[in-house]
Amino acid sequence: MVKKCILCGEEEAKFVIKDTNNYYCDECAKDMFDNVSVLQTVEEQARKLKEEIDKHAEDEEESE
Ligand SMILES: [Zn+2]
Repeated sequence: MVKKCILCGEEEAKFVIKDTNNYYCDECAKDMFDNVSVLQTVEEQARKLKEEIDKHAEDEEESE
């Protein structure tokens, strides 16, 4: 599911504030933050989420 920017509501979000639902597109992120490196990228977030899920899946397999 594609996240939309919470500011313009039109562009696809590229950045997210860690542990929040504050999503920003490239342009709005750059407007809001001098340094976008404080933000997590949506890709990175998705990857971490997947890692967590994979980890849980492995744990469950082991306990069976
Ligand atoms: Zn935007």
